[in-house]
Amino acid sequence: MIFKSRFERGEITLLKSLNARMDLTDEEKKNFMFLKKGFDGELMFDALTVKLQSDCLVLNDLLLEVGGGRFQIDTLIIHEKLYIFEVKNYEGNCYFESGNFYSSSGVVLKNALNQLNRCETLLRQLLQKHGFKFSTEGQVVFINPEFFLYQAPRHEPIVYTPQLNQLMKKLNSLPGKLNGKHLKLAELLVSLHITEDSYSRVRHYGFGQLRKGVLCPVCQSFMERSGLKILVCPSCRLEESVDAAVLRSVEELRFLFPEMRVTTRVVEEWCGGICSPKALGRILRLRYKAISYRRWVYFE
Ligand SMILES: [Zn+2]
Repeated sequence: MIFKSRFERGEITLLKSLNARMDLTDEEKKNFMFLKKGFDGELMFDALTVKLQSDCLVLNDLLLEVGGGRFQIDTLIIHEKLYIFEVKNYEGNCYFESGNFYSSSGVVLKNALNQLNRCETLLRQLLQKHGFKFSTEGQVVFINPEFFLYQAPRHEPIVYTPQLNQLMKKLNSLPGKLNGKHLKLAELLVSLHITEDSYSRVRHYGFGQLRKGVLCPVCQSFMERSGLKILVCPSCRLEESVDAAVLRSVEELRFLFPEMRVTTRVVEEWCGGICSPKALGRILRLRYKAISYRRWVYFE
């Protein structure tokens, strides 16, 4: 059972918008692609764990702290044992040498085994601090089917793509039932989870410098009008009702500019004039409350 779901990190949501609406530097683009790829890999693993039928609790994406050290767990499965998974979405041909992972061109990759070790150690400390006794089993999961590791080590806790089925079978046949102790631990970990929404790596941006229009929710291209009530994405052909697309864009606007007052005029500009102010007023009233302020009306 999924006890804690995974959400897109605020930094990825933000960079997704900015990448479409302004020209990011190569460094910023690289950071965005790196974060997005990692997240996509985690979602691929979630698609497997969500199907588990055995009596266990799945906690996705935990950021915890003990003794001043922060650590992130991609996936934690609570059963008699605690299963910790470090998910890596590496791609292409890589190799393993003297305890390190290298890309084919010889660049050292983040050492997933060290990361996992640190995670396990700190989690054990945290459990001890709160009086829980559980044994742990950590594994690095290479989720991308297009990843190949030359000189792959045999005795390290690693799950390669062809072994994923086997892993799921094992997790699916975990015997026994959970009790209050397991639930208590899950609740504790969720309560200790740190929501980190610092976008320190993202530079300042202003309303005026962003490209306006409605972004496709799938591929972030700018959508176009197709008939009276429908927008269509010219890249992936996704269709969406004008009402839904406008409301989605307003949520994006509120996320990017939390201090900004949402008025029909602002939304008209933000959506690239895709709707008349009158139509926008009607759409905004579907979800928000209109508040009169002097001669103006804004929406909350
Ligand atoms: Zn699209």
